[in-house]
Amino acid sequence: ADVPATFIDVLRERAAAQPDVEAVVELGGRRLTYAELWDAAARVAGGLRAQGVANGDRVSVRYAAGVDWVLGFWGTVLSGGIAVAVNTRSAEPEVAFVLENAGVTLDLAPGTALPDGEPYAVDTATAGDVAALFYTSGTTGRPKGVPTTHEAFVANAENMIRCSGLSRDVGADYRTLISVPLFHVTGCNSQLLVATYVGGTSVIMPQLDVGALVEVLVAEKIGYMVTVPAVYALLLRHPAFVDANVSGVRVVGYGGAPIAPSTVQEIQAAFGDATVMNGYGMTETASLVTVLPDRDAVEHADSVGYAVPSVDIGIVPISDDPTIGELVVRGANVATGYWERPDADAETIVDGWLHTGDVVRVDDAGRVHIVDRIKDIINRGGENVSSIEVEAVLLSAPGVVDAAVVPVPDDVMGEKVGALLVSESGELDLDAVLDHCRENLADFKIPQFAVVSGETLPRNAGGKLLKKRIREQVQWGDPLR
Ligand code: ATP
Ligand code: MG
Repeated sequence: ADVPATFIDVLRERAAAQPDVEAVVELGGRRLTYAELWDAAARVAGGLRAQGVANGDRVSVRYAAGVDWVLGFWGTVLSGGIAVAVNTRSAEPEVAFVLENAGVTLDLAPGTALPDGEPYAVDTATAGDVAALFYTSGTTGRPKGVPTTHEAFVANAENMIRCSGLSRDVGADYRTLISVPLFHVTGCNSQLLVATYVGGTSVIMPQLDVGALVEVLVAEKIGYMVTVPAVYALLLRHPAFVDANVSGVRVVGYGGAPIAPSTVQEIQAAFGDATVMNGYGMTETASLVTVLPDRDAVEHADSVGYAVPSVDIGIVPISDDPTIGELVVRGANVATGYWERPDADAETIVDGWLHTGDVVRVDDAGRVHIVDRIKDIINRGGENVSSIEVEAVLLSAPGVVDAAVVPVPDDVMGEKVGALLVSESGELDLDAVLDHCRENLADFKIPQFAVVSGETLPRNAGGKLLKKRIREQVQWGDPLR
């Protein structure tokens, strides 16, 4: 099949071929067809040009998730500028850092009306042109800007449709619910742009509301949903979900952060016949690196699956064991450098391979298993402990609704294993949790505990645990053993 060169071609073709199909729906807001989306985006592009935006200029998009965000994004891309996706949950100094790093010349922020002018669409765009800058989540340090080319967007969309059994002919039958931020690659590249790629509809939830999400699945006839593990954990326990008929949902995707196998089982049970899939990726790869398909989803729930078509993967050993090491990647959707960060480039891109910062194991069938982020592995007197493995065991312990595992400084061992647990009721039988750990973990992995009740653990907009903050703030009690 013909693969388009740029995403501008993708949108233009859809607007011509299926002008009346809904392209974007903002819940509680406007709904735009493909013709309306193209026309409105072209007017924004014309307005931007009139305000002096030239090819390659950076325009920040800071609107809340919804139609304005989509028009700011597409308007910038059609203008020939580079859309800078800014985390709307950032504090002021963080925003200032991003605007400065990106060299933004025009800021589309809440309160700024979208520019309006004579319809314009750049006609010189090529596959290698940078269309947008996305910033990494900043989980391990300062967010880094990732230049994302049209080629990378198209490659990710191709990977996504091939791994989820879709085709570009799906059209209006594809209705996806976007409940994650648009300023990260999962929401923008793997949902909004994939919907555009197949001619379907993006239904955007401006503010995550788990109770409303259940109604929306039915009312908006959602067939596809992708969200982060933390949202599924809330959704599955929500009273509105228990009686809801979600049989219309055909594909349920999760990713962006580790998911406990016990949560996967719950998702599978709750969504009946739907196809479930885990997707692992990063900002630097315009979203997907691997996909765990439905056939493996439950039996190998501790895996993130196989490399997507356009990605080559490799392992750089970190110890004597050659089957475990840092995952390195390259391919059409993989960035070749950061934006104005030569320090990060030197650290991350070596001989054309991008170092993911994730330690993985690859099994005999070629499935990738995330062991941990390099920076989160706990070194207990020379023994490496995967925080993710311990969290997964804790999440299946009686009464535990959430868990974060981090190192606890120790004079003798250097580091020990600490677990911050959330109990729903406020009461947690720690002896029972400890027994569960003893049954499922080697003794050196058994954590000491701190417990908070009814709270949620600190996570960023992508549903990732903020372990740096947890490490600094938790007060550890004496070990139970
Ligand atoms: P920073 O790079 O700024 O420290 P970040 O790595 O969290 O932040 P993102 O690019 O948003 O920024 O996230 C990519 C990371 O998220 C991956 O490297 C991996 O650690 C984690 N991740 C993504 N998907 C999955 C998944 N399905 N399972 C486990 N971890 C995942
Ligand atoms: Mg990262």
